[in-house]
Amino acid sequence: MLDRYNRTIDYLRISVTDRCNLRCHYCMPAEGIHLLRHEDILSFDEIVEVASIAAGMGLWKIRLTGGEPLVRRGITDLVRMLAAIPGISDLSMTTNGVLLGKFAAELKEAGLHRVNISLDTLDPEKYRLITRGGNIEDVLEGIEKAKEAGLHPIKINCVLGEFNDESDAETLKLFGEERGIAVRYIQKMDLSTGEFYVVEGGDGGKCSICNRLRLTSNGLVKPCLFNAIGFNVRKLGPKQAMLCALEHKPKCGTFNMKEQFYNIGG
Ligand code: SAM
Repeated sequence: MLDRYNRTIDYLRISVTDRCNLRCHYCMPAEGIHLLRHEDILSFDEIVEVASIAAGMGLWKIRLTGGEPLVRRGITDLVRMLAAIPGISDLSMTTNGVLLGKFAAELKEAGLHRVNISLDTLDPEKYRLITRGGNIEDVLEGIEKAKEAGLHPIKINCVLGEFNDESDAETLKLFGEERGIAVRYIQKMDLSTGEFYVVEGGDGGKCSICNRLRLTSNGLVKPCLFNAIGFNVRKLGPKQAMLCALEHKPKCGTFNMKEQFYNIGG
């Protein structure tokens, strides 16, 4: 599928929940978030319907994100349903890794191919500070179990912000090299001011080659993270919502005063 600017759109990021088991400083406010009502969150059948239509339109890559995708009850069942859609040949997940120790083997068995794990430091105290209470041991176990399960390749996403620095970036790089895991560095961004950057070691942030649409957990198909527009699959139907998002995909991101990373999936 080509958009107005001749970009090939072949990638759908699906946020399956706005809930998360961490409270990272750069992602969620300390006072907590206004959670979506359960009835506003798409069911698995609705998500699969959108994904099937997307696959029929030529999108072949799906990434599950959130909130934290592993806190959505029955996530393995959703992975199995998505993996069975003809045409979906790359099924991945972005996770904080906290619950990956528990889920890695069953996710692989259900058809997940690979994972990106968000980890900004290897220092347990800094990790606790950045995530407002997370235990790094859970993530390290998650990484080992993902490797054992054969979720491959594993990548680490490291956001560089006020609580970590070059030394964290360097130790993560060495940690990754020892385990065959690529580490990508992302500058802390701000949706409301339009501050966004190219992802070092990835494709994110390069508008001229952006290949993605996003589905939020409450059913908006969004053409761009740095733009407030979105098209509701319940109101318009999945096909029309996808086509509208394609038609309105901006040439370049600007800013988004309406949503946050945890609403859209980062
Ligand atoms: N909970 C999952 C996780 O931690 O990977 C998935 C959702 S999270 C919103 C997706 C990605 O967005 C993570 O890699 C996170 O680090 C990134 N992210 C969140 N807020 C960000 C910000 N202000 N600037 C840059 N990246 C951010």
